[in-house]
Order: sequence, then C-alpha cells, then structure tokens
Amino acid sequence: MQQYDVIVIGKGNAALCAALAARDQGVSVGMLEAASEDESGGNSRFAGGVMRFVYSSVDDLRRVTDISDEEAAISDFGTNTREEFLDKLYQLTSYRTDADLSEVLVNESLDVMAWLRSKGARFVLNTGRQSSMVNGRRVYFGNMPIEVSGGGAGLVQYLDKAAAKAGIDIHYETRATSLVFDGESVQGVRAQQRGKPVEFRAKSVILAAGGFEANPEMRTRYLGPGWELAKVRGTRFNQGDGLKMALDIGAAPYGNWSGCHATGWDRYAPEFGDVNVGDQFQKHSYIFGLLINADGKRFVDEGWDFHSFTYAKYGGEVLKQPGQFAWQVFVSKVKNLLRSEYRIKFVTKVTANTLEELAPQLEGVNPENFLKTVRDFNAAVRKDVPFDHTVKDGKCTEGIEPKKSNWAQALDTPPYDAYMTTCGITFTFGGLRIDRETGQVLNVHLNKIPGLYCAGEMVGGLFYFNYPSGTGLVSGAVFGRVAGAGAAAAAKNA
Ligand SMILES: Cc1cc2nc3c(=O)[nH]c(=O)nc-3n(C[C@H](O)[C@H](O)[C@H](O)COP(=O)(O)OP(=O)(O)OC[C@H]3O[C@@H](n4cnc5c(N)ncnc54)[C@H](O)[C@@H]3O)c2cc1C
Repeated sequence: MQQYDVIVIGKGNAALCAALAARDQGVSVGMLEAASEDESGGNSRFAGGVMRFVYSSVDDLRRVTDISDEEAAISDFGTNTREEFLDKLYQLTSYRTDADLSEVLVNESLDVMAWLRSKGARFVLNTGRQSSMVNGRRVYFGNMPIEVSGGGAGLVQYLDKAAAKAGIDIHYETRATSLVFDGESVQGVRAQQRGKPVEFRAKSVILAAGGFEANPEMRTRYLGPGWELAKVRGTRFNQGDGLKMALDIGAAPYGNWSGCHATGWDRYAPEFGDVNVGDQFQKHSYIFGLLINADGKRFVDEGWDFHSFTYAKYGGEVLKQPGQFAWQVFVSKVKNLLRSEYRIKFVTKVTANTLEELAPQLEGVNPENFLKTVRDFNAAVRKDVPFDHTVKDGKCTEGIEPKKSNWAQALDTPPYDAYMTTCGITFTFGGLRIDRETGQVLNVHLNKIPGLYCAGEMVGGLFYFNYPSGTGLVSGAVFGRVAGAGAAAAAKNA
C-alpha cells in the first residue's frame, strides 16, 4: 500500500493544476491516471486550446504572453471585463450558473493564466481562429485573443514537465474504483492497476476524473434516450468513475445532470477522439451557412451569435433531428471564411455547381424540401444590410422560421460545398457540489466531507444548457488550483 499526503485522481488539466498547487505547499503528491502514459491527458489533451479569461487592457494580456509595442499598436483586442464574462455566463446558462462558483471562476481567471505561465505554459495570440485583418488592423472577435501554444496537448505537456520537476509521482494504467471512507472521512483510494487491485492511502483525495461523456449507459440514463448515439470528441477514459465513487459515499450531486456540451462533429468520425486529429472533426463555421436536416429543413438560428456562444448546444440540436445528422451547406463566397477544420483529409463533404445537383448528393435528405428551404431562405435575406464577419452584422432573414439573425447571405453563387455532421459530445455538466473556498466536496446535507476535494469537469453548478467557448480549461485550472491548495492545507493540519 502506498501513502501520500495528497492523491489526485486523473491527469488532465484540472488534475495537474491541483497536483502542482498542492505540491507548492510542500506536501507529497501522487496522481492516479486510468490511461497509459501514451493515452493520458484526458479531454484536456484534445482541446483546441482557446482560453477565456478577464482582461481589459494590453497590460492584462501581457501577464499571459509577450506582446510587442508594434503588435499592440495594430491590434484591436477588444475586452472581456469581469462584467462581460459574468454576463455571458449568466445569459448562456439562463441565469442558473451558481453565483459563488461563477464569481470564483471569473475573478481568478486572469491570475490563473499568469500562474500557468509561471509553471512553464506558453501562450500565443489567437490569430488563426478568431481574428481577421480589417483595413490593416488585426481585429480579434469573441473576446478570446490568447490560446495555449500547441493546443490542449501542448498545455498537458507543459504541465507534465512541471509535475516531473516538482517531484510528483504519476501512476499510469491505474483506474480508481472506490474511495476508502470510514463513515467519517476519506482516507484513500482503491484502484485497479494493470489488472490487479491496489490501495493508496492519503490525508486528502482530489477527484479530477472528468465527467461521464464516454459512458453510453450513463449518457442515456442522465442525458436521455438517443445520447448513446453521440460520438465522443475526446478521451475514452472519462467513464463517470469519479462521480460514482463520490455519490457512493453520500456526496451531493449538483448542476445540470441532464445537460452537456456537444457540438457538430463529422458524421463518420470514429467513436472516440483521435489525438492525431484533435478537435478538427468539429465544424464550427455553420454561422456562415445553413444547417439542413433529413427533412430538408433548417432547425436552428445558425447566426444567433458567434459560434463560441452556440456551438456547445447545437450538437444536442443535431442529435434531436431524424437520423441524428445535419448537413452544413455553404456558398462559394464564404469559402475563405471557413475554419481550418473544413480542410482536413478526413471530412464528409460533397460539392456541386447547382443546387439541383447538390440536393441528391446530400445523403439522407429529402431533396425537394431542401430546394424549397433554400428558395425560401434566399427570398427572406435582407439585401439592404452589408455582410461583415467580424461583428454581429444584423444581416438577417425576415419572415421565415427559424430566423437567421446574422451573416445571412443568399445561396446563389456556385460552387456549393456541404459537410455532413452528427453530434459529438465534449463533456457533461452535472457534477458534485463543492465549497468555493477550498474545493472540498459537500455531502447531501451540505456538510464538508473531510478528506475529499474535486476539480474540473467534475465540479457541478457552473454550466447549464450552454457554455461560452474557452471556459473548460480555465475552469479546470481555477478549481484545480483551489482544490490543490485546500487539500494540501488540510493534509498539513491532519
Ligand atoms: C475536442 C475537444 C476540444 C476542446 N476544446 C477546448 C478549448 O479550446 N478550450 C477549452 O477551454 N476547453 C476545451 N475543451 C474542453 C476541455 O478540454 C475540458 O473542459 C477540460 O479539459 C476538462 O479537464 P479535466 O481535467 O476536468 O478533465 P480531463 O482532461 O478529461 O481529465 C480527466 C482525467 O481523469 C482520468 N480518469 C478518468 N477516470 C479515471 C479513474 N477512474 N481513475 C483514474 N483516472 C481517471 C482520465 O484518464 C483523464 O486523465 C475541449 C474538449 C474537447 C474534447
């Protein structure tokens, strides 16, 4: 039996941040990772790497990455003030986000970026995906001008290096199965290590083992019928183990257990994420096109806002359609605006020179209805409003349902490209209830469970129905750091 002051379950971003923060307090730290070293890193490793945090000036951004005076002079970074970030969280979650937790997330978001940098993470300007040159100036849109270099995989590598330097032990192929709990406090973890049962003792245990997104039985049970059919965008190891272990000893479930983050994803992508492809099966440029279901009809407002604020819920809308698929149809004039993920080798795409030639190529779609949908859409587009992809341009449709609120352009210039998507689940929203100061898990009577902490996707109460892009990694880092410090302080006092 091995013993540590603090044991962390998982080895994604939240777990690594928790482990580093605990180690900063001088306690011994061990990590248990279900995956082999090759497959380790959780969903964090699949992440594109954009990160949403509070900034209101170039000086704030300079705490995270170097920006030269020349670069600053030609850039419009916008802002993401505390108020803007909170407003977005509240708006997208229909005012259900936990007031305490969201405040910690937002208030700590800039500090945690600087802390990650101090641990060796490198950040760069997000020029590729959410910025454009406009009249000689670089304009950033979506309030997220910085991403981690190398994406989520890069972030995990930086933190891995920091963990090795800090002397943190990592036990791979070690799947935690239950908590050692004497009815009063948590004292360790039971696990399966390469087919053998093992036990670890600790003064504090931090759960950072992700949600239940990779478990079709739990998806169906909590998210509802049909969710077993979703593709998994990331790791196959997030089976809901951490949540089950905690619920088994009376931890309080919290948040949107029937909700999740899910996006449009290539119809023929593999069952789980592929680290070599990362997030590139996603198709996030639908804001410039039409989403068409098997009946040949539109079913959402593609241009309600920038994709950052709709993509996480539109995957679920695709899942609800007959056959669980949707075609994204684009006209040639927006081709140059499509994100890099539209140009990968593995893509389900058809092209045609006329809409009549395109219609029968849209697998599974009623062609007559599709042509009627396009005719009606083209007639409804406001021609008096100019198109501008860098702002919500208000170029909308009138008189059709659903409306397209922005970036509506008639499908009238061939060739037409169409991409077939289904629903890809990213992570689940339901989690555990924690104390905001320490990350300590509360029981169903809302008392703290001695010795038990939690971070990352396992924290419930932050996201409901929807999610602003770039918040998962920052939330993992913020609550990882909180839980690491809380767990270490308790271990020192034990
Ligand atoms: C394709 C994709 C793109 C994304 N892009 C972005 C982005 O650009 N920006 C952003 O902010 N967020 C993004 N996200 C979301 C983000 O990746 C997650 O919110 C975040 O990584 C979750 O971190 P975590 O540490 O909580 O979980 P994870 O990183 O998933 O880590 C969970 C860990 O627990 C381990 N584990 C599970 N069960 C056990 C067990 N029983 N015992 C031991 N270990 C166990 C897993 O192996 C894994 O190491 C993306 C996600 C995906 C899938």
